[in-house]
Amino acid sequence: MRQSQLFTRTSKEMPKDEVSVNASLLMRAGFVDKLFAGVYTLLPLGLRVMTKIENIVRAQMNAALGQEVLMPALHPRDNWDATARWDAMDVLFKLKDSADKEYALGATHEEIITPLAQKFLISYQDLPRSIYQIQTKFRNEPRAKSGLLRGREFRMKDLYSFHADEADLDQYYETMKGVYFQVFKQVGLGGITHITFASGGAFSKYSHEFQTITSAGEDTIYVCAACQVAVNREIISELKSVCPECGGTELLEHRAIEVGNIFKLGTRFSGAFDFRYTDERGALRPVVMGCYGIGITRLLGAIVEVHHDGRGIVWPAAVAPMSVHLVSLAREAADVRQADEIYGALARAGIEVLYDDRQAVRAGEKFADSDLFGLPLRVVVSAKTLESQSVELKRRGREEAILAPIGNLLTAVTQELAG
Ligand code: ATP
Ligand code: MG
Repeated sequence: MRQSQLFTRTSKEMPKDEVSVNASLLMRAGFVDKLFAGVYTLLPLGLRVMTKIENIVRAQMNAALGQEVLMPALHPRDNWDATARWDAMDVLFKLKDSADKEYALGATHEEIITPLAQKFLISYQDLPRSIYQIQTKFRNEPRAKSGLLRGREFRMKDLYSFHADEADLDQYYETMKGVYFQVFKQVGLGGITHITFASGGAFSKYSHEFQTITSAGEDTIYVCAACQVAVNREIISELKSVCPECGGTELLEHRAIEVGNIFKLGTRFSGAFDFRYTDERGALRPVVMGCYGIGITRLLGAIVEVHHDGRGIVWPAAVAPMSVHLVSLAREAADVRQADEIYGALARAGIEVLYDDRQAVRAGEKFADSDLFGLPLRVVVSAKTLESQSVELKRRGREEAILAPIGNLLTAVTQELAG
C-alpha cells in the first residue's frame, strides 16, 4: 500500500480530551478516529490490526470445535425479560421503535443464543456444542475514559458451550483455559497475562479472568509468586491472602486489564428459557452452559499500552498491520524508479509493505511517522543507500541499523522479520 494514498493522517499533537495512552497513540498514528467518548472508527491500519487479532482468536476457537455464527445486535425486550436482566443490567442500551415496541442493543448474547440453541440441540446426541461470534457490543458504560479499553461500542468474541452435565462443562472449561493462554501469547501478551480468580455466579464459586498487567489497567490483581495464578482484589478478602491454586502466600500486587473471562453459567440461562434435552433414557434434563469472552478492541488497546515507547507504537509481529515500512527518501527520477521496484519486489514476494512514497515530506518527518506507526521492520531507500546499491534495515524497537545489498533484499528482509 502506498502511503501517499492512505486514508489517514498522522498528528504530532496529543489529541485533546483523550487521557488514555492507547487511544492517544492510535489516534495520533491515524489508526483510529474518535467519534465521541468510548466510540471509535477503525481506519485502514487499525482495522488491519483488529482483523489480525480476530483471525488469531478465530483459529483458536475453531480448534476448540467452536462454530462461528453472527447473531443480531438488535434484541427484542421479551428475551431480556425472560432472564430478568432488562432491569438488572444497568449498562443496557434501550430503545423504542415508532410503534413503541422496546428493544435492547446487544451488550452480551446469552438472551439470544439460549433460545437459538434450544431450536437445534434437542437430544443428548446433539451435545456438547460450542458456538461463537465476533461482534460489536453496546454498553452504556458510565465512564469511558480508557480509550479502547472500555468502549460504549466495542468488539467482543463470545463463545457459549452447551453440555449434558456439569462434568462435561468442567472438562471443556479446563480446555478453554489453555486455548485462552494460546490466544494471549500469540497476540504478544504472553507472560504478562495471568489467569485470575474472580467472583463467580450461582453455579460456581469462582470464575476466571485473564488479566494483562499494565499501569493503564482498571483492576488490581495479586499474582502468586509461586504459580503465577492471580486473584482479583474484589475477592481477595475472602481468600485471606492465600493463593487458591497452590496455597502460596507471596502475592504481588499489580494493575491489570481484563482481556477475557470464562464463566460457568450452569443452568442460569437454560433454566430461564426452559431449555432441556432428552437423555439416553428419554428423560428431559436441563442443558448446562458455559460462556467465554474476549475483548477484541480491548486487546487492541492493551497491546498498545504494553508495546510502545516514547516515539510511538511497537507492534508485535503477529498483529502488526504490515510487516515492512519501506521509507523512500529518493528525489531523482532514477532513484524513485528503484524505490518503486523494491516496493514491487517485496509485494510480489507476499510481504505486507507500507510504502512511504510521499515526495514533499522531509526525512525527519517520515522517520517520526515510521516510529509512530511501529511496523516491525523499516527499510530506507535513499540516494545515499543507492550509491552502494543497498537499503538500510532497522527493526522497530532497536537502535542499530544494517545495510543490505538490493540483490539480497528478500533474504535480508525475511531474516530480519524472523529474528
Ligand atoms: P469489565 O469487568 O471490564 O467491565 P465484564 O466483566 O463486564 O468486563 P464481559 O461481559 O464478561 O466483561 O465481557 C467479556 C470481555 O469483553 C471482557 O473480558 C473484556 O475483555 C471485554 N469488555 C467488556 N466490557 C468492555 C468494554 N466496555 N469495552 C471494551 N471491552 C470490553
Ligand atoms: Mg469483569
